[in-house]
Amino acid sequence: MSEQAIYDVFVIGGGINGCGIARDAVGRGYSVALAEMNDFASGTSSGSTKLIHGGLRYLEHYEFRLVREALMEREVLWAMAPHVIWPMRFVLPYHKGGLRPAWLIRLGLFLYDHIGGRKLLPATATLDMNRDPAGKPLKRLFNKAFEYSDGWVNDARLVVLNARDAADRGAVIMARTRVVAARRDGGLWAIETENQATGERKTLKARMLINAAGPWVDAVLSGALGKNDVHNVRLVQGSHIVVKKKFDDPRAYFFQNPDGRIMFAIPYEEDFTLIGTTDRDYTGNPGEVRISDAEVDYLCRAASEYFLEPVEKDDIVWTYSAVRPLYDDGASKAQEATRDYVLRVEGDKGAAPLLNVFGGKLTTYRRLGESALEKIGEAIGVKGSKWTAGSRLPGGDFPAQGYADEVARLRKQYPFLAPQHARRLVRLYGTRAAALLGSASNEAGLGHHFGADLYEAEVKWLMTQEWARHAEDVLWRRTKLGLKLTPGEAAALEEYMRGAANAAA
Ligand SMILES: Cc1cc2nc3c(=O)[nH]c(=O)nc-3n(C[C@H](O)[C@H](O)[C@H](O)COP(=O)(O)OP(=O)(O)OC[C@H]3O[C@@H](n4cnc5c(N)ncnc54)[C@H](O)[C@@H]3O)c2cc1C
Repeated sequence: MSEQAIYDVFVIGGGINGCGIARDAVGRGYSVALAEMNDFASGTSSGSTKLIHGGLRYLEHYEFRLVREALMEREVLWAMAPHVIWPMRFVLPYHKGGLRPAWLIRLGLFLYDHIGGRKLLPATATLDMNRDPAGKPLKRLFNKAFEYSDGWVNDARLVVLNARDAADRGAVIMARTRVVAARRDGGLWAIETENQATGERKTLKARMLINAAGPWVDAVLSGALGKNDVHNVRLVQGSHIVVKKKFDDPRAYFFQNPDGRIMFAIPYEEDFTLIGTTDRDYTGNPGEVRISDAEVDYLCRAASEYFLEPVEKDDIVWTYSAVRPLYDDGASKAQEATRDYVLRVEGDKGAAPLLNVFGGKLTTYRRLGESALEKIGEAIGVKGSKWTAGSRLPGGDFPAQGYADEVARLRKQYPFLAPQHARRLVRLYGTRAAALLGSASNEAGLGHHFGADLYEAEVKWLMTQEWARHAEDVLWRRTKLGLKLTPGEAAALEEYMRGAANAAA
C-alpha cells in the first residue's frame, strides 16, 4: 500500500457488502483499497440466520423483485462456494386456519419451484406429519407440512473468502483500520485511516468512495464525512440462541409464531440447534448489541410451543445478536421494514463521487455488488464486465455436489485425520484444506494442540491467509470452535496469537 497511490475505489467496511464490492471491482480491473475497522464480518455479517434464501415471508410485503433475485442467487452462490454454502430442506408445518393464508404459502412455493432458477435443488413436497420423521420431535399440532429447498451459508467465512479473493486479485485489504475522516480534495477523496492496533494514521487517495459500513453507514456519514441530519437506516436487532441438539433430522424447521413472526430451528455445527430470530428496533452502538433476557425468554418459549422436549434456558450454549441496517422506508413495524437494498450516489459534477450502500442481505450480496459496479462505471468510467456469476471463491473449486468426495480425498491424503476433523476442514477451507495441512503425516505434524481439533497449522493459516489476530477471530468467525474450547484453552490461544503476531511484526 502506498500513500502516493490513487485508488479508483476505496471501500469503507469489511462486511459482506464491502468485501463483495471490492472483489467484483478488482476483478474488473479497478484499483481497490478496503478498510475494516475491526475484524472482517465482525459487524452484522457474522450474526445472521445464515440462510441463502428467497425469503418466503417477504412476499407478504409484495417484495417480488427481491424474492426473485434472491431465489436466483441460491444456486449461483452454491456453485461459487460449495464448501461454505449448501442446500438445506425446510419443513414448514401447516394447519387450516393458520396465520398465513394457504394461497400465500402456495404462491411462495410455486415461485420457489418455478422462477428461482432451480436446477439442482429438489422441488417442494407435501409431508404427512403423522408419518414423516420430521413430525417426530414436534408436538402433535400439525397433520401437514410443506417441505422446500433453500441454502445454508457460513456467513463469516463467505465474507473472509471474498476479502481473500479480492486481495489475491490485487486489492489492498486492511483489517483493524478505521476510516476516521474523508474529504473531497481536487476531484479526489482524501481518506484518513487509523490503524486500531498501533494508532498510526495515514491519508490515502481515491477517485470514488464506497460507504458500505452496514449499521454504521449513517455514523460514517455524520462522523467521517461530517454531514448533518443523517437518517437513512433503521437499526433492527435480531438475536439467536444455540442449544444442545434438539432433533436428529437434517432438515430445518420454519415455524409461524402466533404473534405473526416466523422462527427457524436449524441443525447447527453437527451437535447443536440454532433458533432465531427476533426483530426489535435498536438505538445503541451496533458494536455492543447483546441478546436481552426478554429475547431469551421469547425464543425459549416460542420454540417450546413446537418441540415435545421444551427448550430451556439451561440448554443454551451460546447466543449472538446483530443489527440489521434496513433502509428506512417508514414501515411501522420492525419486521415490515424492507429487506431490499438501496444504492445512492452523491456528488455534483466534477466532485469526487460517494456511493452509500443501505440495507441488503447476504443472499443478494453478489447482485448488490453488480449494481454497485454499474454505479461505479457511471461515475468514474466503465472497466471490465460482470464476471462473478460462475466464478469460484477460494477453496470452492469443486463440483457443487462434490463435498463428500472432497472429504474422502482429504482423508486419503491425510489418513490420520478423524472423520469429523476432515469434514470440518473441507467445510471451512474446501480444496485449500490440503495447503493448510501441508506435509503433516500425523497429528504431531500439525503443531501445538489448542483444544477440540484445533492445531497450530490451522491457526497459522488463519493468521497468514485470513487476517486473524485474536482468539475471537478464530473461535467465533473463521471457525465456530468457540463452542468446543474451554475458557482456559481460548485464553491460551489468545496468548499464542499475540506472541505470533509480535514475532511477525
Ligand atoms: C439477525 C439477522 C439475521 C439475518 N439473517 C439473514 C439471512 O438468513 N440471510 C441473509 O441473506 N441475510 C440475513 N441477514 C442480513 C445480513 O446479515 C446483512 O444484510 C449483511 O450482513 C449486512 O452486511 P454489511 O456488509 O452491509 O454490514 P456489516 O457486516 O455490518 O459490515 C459493515 C462493516 O463496516 C465496518 N465499519 C463501520 N464503520 C467503519 C469505519 N469508520 N471504518 C472502517 N470500517 C467500518 C464495521 O466494522 C463492519 O464490519 C440477517 C441480519 C440479521 C441482523
